[in-house]
Amino acid sequence: MKVLVINAGSSSLKYQLLDPSTEEVLAQGLCERIGIDGRLTHKIPATGAKHVFEIAMPTHAEAIQAVLDALTSAEHGVIKSMSEIEAVGHRVVHGGEKFASSVKIDEAVMAALEECIPLAPLHNPANITGIKACEKVMPGVPMVAVFDTAFHQTMPAKSYIYALPYEYYENDKVRRYGFHGTSHKYVAGRAAAMLGKKPEELKLISCHLGNGSSITAIDGGKSVDTTMGFTPLAGVPMGTRSGDLDAGILEYLMNKYNMDIKEMLTVLNKKSGVQGISGVSSDFRDLEEAAAQGNQRAALALEAFQYSVRKFVGAYAAAMGGVDAIIFTAGVGENDAATRMAIASGLEFMGVKMDAEANNVRGKETVISAADSKVKVLLIPTNEELMIARDTAEIVGK
Ligand code: AMP
Repeated sequence: MKVLVINAGSSSLKYQLLDPSTEEVLAQGLCERIGIDGRLTHKIPATGAKHVFEIAMPTHAEAIQAVLDALTSAEHGVIKSMSEIEAVGHRVVHGGEKFASSVKIDEAVMAALEECIPLAPLHNPANITGIKACEKVMPGVPMVAVFDTAFHQTMPAKSYIYALPYEYYENDKVRRYGFHGTSHKYVAGRAAAMLGKKPEELKLISCHLGNGSSITAIDGGKSVDTTMGFTPLAGVPMGTRSGDLDAGILEYLMNKYNMDIKEMLTVLNKKSGVQGISGVSSDFRDLEEAAAQGNQRAALALEAFQYSVRKFVGAYAAAMGGVDAIIFTAGVGENDAATRMAIASGLEFMGVKMDAEANNVRGKETVISAADSKVKVLLIPTNEELMIARDTAEIVGK
């Protein structure tokens, strides 16, 4: 079965055509500058071919049409006709409390997605636009929505409730939702396979460390706590996001610098995190290079990040009453051996012993703890597209 996976942003659209049963990726790519001019980058992993096209994309519908044209093109296509695409899986950022799993898209689901817009005003409208554009260009093809928040809907109330007046939860749905759920779920499944255990038998801590980062406690295959909150701004310091901070700082800085809440949030979302501390970059490669050349603030940014991740790993081990394995995934988690080592280095007391040689690896499923480490440490490349395609195939197949 061939499934088209779509991740629509406000002016971009990522896609992958894959077969979830064989896990083969037939084609993948990116539409950029939608609504401005339009550029399509189309790649075919089997041959390593990469094509770039300048195509007018006034809306997402033209972008999806361009993707379909590329997929079916005589020169650089991978399928004969659109009818080979049996289903489309859409990544949707926020499913609120309505969606604890992926769903087949129909009118009622679309209405519920619209209702979730206030919870994710930056992301959900783009996701909805992507779905509508697909419906226009591929009428009749079944579509599934896969939510970033769904995996975390198993969190108990004590994890998701904020210590605010309860009516803000009851009336306004202000609670911890958590994000990166598709990634955390995927790596938890792979961890169980690597360890030869059932997910129900395991206590896992999954560290999705990329440009955005979140840590999740997974007990018996279920998310029981996670660092991101009502929005993806919470938790550990990220590339440019602050992570957790004292809300009192907002009043202090807004008064002092005459900022409104929008300006303040731009600071917290775009100018903070390791970028903010270092003043150098949000990219860990740049930070490591700068730190190696003696830049103290770059070193501090890295240390603050590592310390925060380590603290949450300790907290989640305590929350679950133990941990069998710690997982590293996403851009930093998969590629940055030094950061993994620095995070794990403070955890010997709880039975974590790294294998420096095994850890010296990138982007490959590997056990990176020592053979006698009580707690296993695993590097697992994430694969959100495969997870979306699998859910889509399963739901459409029902
Ligand atoms: P993601 O959001 O998962 O795509 O992760 C992107 C981030 O991964 C980049 O901003 C880098 O900070 C980080 N990254 C990617 N490759 C490396 C590497 N080789 N070493 C350190 N960090 C890396």
